[in-house]
Amino acid sequence: MVSDQERVYLSIGSNMPPRVQNIQQALAMLRALPDVNVCDESHWYETEPWGNREQPNFYNVSVALTTTLSPDDLLAALHTIEQALHRERLVHWGPRTIDLDIIFWGARRMQTDTLTIPHVQAGNRNFVLLPTEEITQNDSLVGPQVQALLAANQDQSWIKKVRNVSELDD
Ligand code: ATP
Ligand code: CA
Ligand code: CA
Repeated sequence: MVSDQERVYLSIGSNMPPRVQNIQQALAMLRALPDVNVCDESHWYETEPWGNREQPNFYNVSVALTTTLSPDDLLAALHTIEQALHRERLVHWGPRTIDLDIIFWGARRMQTDTLTIPHVQAGNRNFVLLPTEEITQNDSLVGPQVQALLAANQDQSWIKKVRNVSELDD
């Protein structure tokens, strides 16, 4: 990649069946967006539920993309994908069919009522940091941010790399 190209990183997760299909469909819908170019995808991980542990395990994956969309417009597109996959917001940090969060956007920092970048909780979550680290090795804007957050990270929750997505349970 061009080292100074601004790449955007998303964290995608599901812990309601069909988890595999939910994530695959979210990825397909993301790739189909005309203004988005998905350029990298981490391994998938099975992860311990974070924040509220009394719920099923998650699958999580991070993706890198470039886009001509504004941050607000990308967030709106992510919400449309969540709605298409029947996301409901019943319990804060509760079970969900799909969740798509913007984690980093190059070196940008922004905070509005509806969007904070980098994601406020990124530094406290193994399920975000470890998959994202995989795909930021050559990113001179985001790689150092991930490394700094990893160095300070205190999250104890387990995450396990998935070797073969086709063998996963829903
Ligand atoms: P968390 O944000 O702690 O991961 P969550 O993903 O369960 O929790 P949601 O209900 O999906 O929370 O999102 C609540 C709101 O968070 C969204 O409607 C959105 O406006 C806001 N938000 C702020 N920053 C971001 C971001 N970087 N990515 C996605 N949503 C964000
Ligand atoms: Ca989230
Ligand atoms: Ca979210």
